[in-house]
Amino acid sequence: MHYFGYKNGELYCEEVPVKKIIEEVGTPVYIYSAKTIRRHYKVFEESFSEVEHLICYSVKANSNIAIISLLRQLGSGADVVSAGELKRALKAGVPPKKIVFSGVGKTPEEIEFALSVDILMFNVESLEELEVLGEIAKKLNKKAPFALRINPDVDPQTHPYISTGLKKSKFGIPEEFAISAYKKAKKNPYLQPVGIDAHIGSQITSLAPFVEALNRLKKIWEALIDLGFELKYLDIGGGLGIIYDDEEPPLPQEYADAIIKEGKDLKATIILEPGRVIVGNAGILVTKVLYTKENTLKKFVIVDAGMNDLIRPAFYQAYHKIVPVEEKNSEYEVVDVVGPICENSDFFAKDRKLPKLQRGDFLAIMSAGAYGFVMSSNYNSRPRVPEVLVDGDTYYIIRRRETIEDLLALESIPARYL
Ligand SMILES: *Cc1c(COP(=O)(O)O)cnc(C)c1O
Repeated sequence: MHYFGYKNGELYCEEVPVKKIIEEVGTPVYIYSAKTIRRHYKVFEESFSEVEHLICYSVKANSNIAIISLLRQLGSGADVVSAGELKRALKAGVPPKKIVFSGVGKTPEEIEFALSVDILMFNVESLEELEVLGEIAKKLNKKAPFALRINPDVDPQTHPYISTGLKKSKFGIPEEFAISAYKKAKKNPYLQPVGIDAHIGSQITSLAPFVEALNRLKKIWEALIDLGFELKYLDIGGGLGIIYDDEEPPLPQEYADAIIKEGKDLKATIILEPGRVIVGNAGILVTKVLYTKENTLKKFVIVDAGMNDLIRPAFYQAYHKIVPVEEKNSEYEVVDVVGPICENSDFFAKDRKLPKLQRGDFLAIMSAGAYGFVMSSNYNSRPRVPEVLVDGDTYYIIRRRETIEDLLALESIPARYL
């Protein structure tokens, strides 16, 4: 469910015509719907109301500080994977005690920063990281709260690039090593085991992998309790899928019911790290048709957004629905929608049936709110595009368009090359 739809043949985001935003900020542009984000958050949050829980929005899905702040207003915490994301969460006013820090490659500097602001817990992904965490905690004379991220070896049946809980993946610690690692940590007065964690992947559209992963965590949890550990947080990560095309992901309530059923006898505070499910369908990328052309095999629609702006199709062969900003009654054609970048993978759709388009038409690439802008780059020296947040009949530019001067500002030519 989202708040993008046509009124009198024109695409609106909530009560604002998309055309009106384009007139001010140009294209390409990301447009987000605040009402959609609030709705998704509330539905997700209410689904877990019968148990103690904390939602830590996964900042990497969409890390604009206005979006984090909007979610913080609703009570959300944050799951961060770098010092940069941690700073964003703090700047957006997220209380440190609602922040968890995940990631396989936290640097000592990042760990020190997170410890110094007293985050809720570190989701530790290796035995060496646990050691480093202990050393830094000792230096700061603090007790570092942590959970071990377990690699439960379950197949989430999603794209291989976003399957993170398989034995062969780099994430987490194998089950077999978990108990001994907790035991060792218990002897270190600067480490405080407070929970257990897993995150098995993203865009998961069935419940079974979540339940299986939770079962693995449960076994370790119970073994630890028997050994006298006092654990509080059962963090089951994020990963719930959304509808891009014809997927049938579980509803948040179905997801919650399955997790509550498995997890509630542990009397834990359940931590959830949703990203995509909150923001994915709350954003679109609007682009302009620059040219159309055809060869003997294919018709192409060349747009002003590129894979540097939205990499999901190139990276994961991801499907994004594409609709015209002004409804067309022209006949349909089968086209490739491609960007201006000098790479064959620079496409948004292949062999897609769309109404016949012409130069100057605007298109909305749907479901672009998660892993869209955050994965964008300056490849081909293209300034990154602006982000606009719509709320009711108002909109705000929450990130201005970069300029070419912005890109060049960080570089310099040493004198010998002048
Ligand atoms: C990416 C990530 C998430 C969010 O995943 P979604 O599929 O967007 O819900 C949560 N936790 C961790 C550790 C992640 O890396």
